[in-house]
Amino acid sequence: MHNVADKYECNRFIKYKHSVKSAIWNESKGKWAIQVQNGEGATIDDEVDVFINAGGVLK
Ligand SMILES: Cc1cc2nc3c(=O)[nH]c(=O)nc-3n(C[C@H](O)[C@H](O)[C@H](O)COP(=O)(O)OP(=O)(O)OC[C@H]3O[C@@H](n4cnc5c(N)ncnc54)[C@H](O)[C@@H]3O)c2cc1C
Repeated sequence: MHNVADKYECNRFIKYKHSVKSAIWNESKGKWAIQVQNGEGATIDDEVDVFINAGGVLK
């Protein structure tokens, strides 16, 4: 998996050991409010136009 990510230069788009804690649609802004916890346990707040849930069917 890491070799494929390296080969196709995907790592610039990937954050390992980060966990999405919440994704809330903000109707008035027309954006997703995202909370992500990084590997050190710090919380990162972000706003995005597009949010794709690829958390898998087992979650
Ligand atoms: C026992 C078993 C055997 C299988 N065998 C086969 C097989 O032989 N052939 C086949 O084609 N398919 C098989 N499958 C199905 C295949 O594994 C799934 O269809 C495929 O893995 C789905 O890929 P995905 O990327 O959608 O989800 P996943 O592979 O489940 O990936 C989801 C990722 O999201 C991460 N994630 C989840 N929640 C969060 C969060 N809040 N924040 C950050 N990250 C998060 C997870 O850690 C995971 O890394 C099998 C499945 C199981 C359970």
